[in-house]
Amino acid sequence: MYCYTCGSDEQHRPLTAAEKAWLKNRTGRKSVEEFFMCSKPGCRNLRTGFNQHPFDPVIRLPQPD
Ligand SMILES: [Zn+2]
Repeated sequence: MYCYTCGSDEQHRPLTAAEKAWLKNRTGRKSVEEFFMCSKPGCRNLRTGFNQHPFDPVIRLPQPD
């Protein structure tokens, strides 16, 4: 899928349970099942399956501990 911040097609993966919890807290959304994270190292930008730019400004998942 296309990554808005990378400017290219990149691998994306579904969020983990912990990442979903973080995003729900961050956005106030009840459901974040539609989101995917860019797998390119250092990116971690979020998009949905049909919207490459759902947040303005963009939201990136925090780096794991
Ligand atoms: Zn990216």
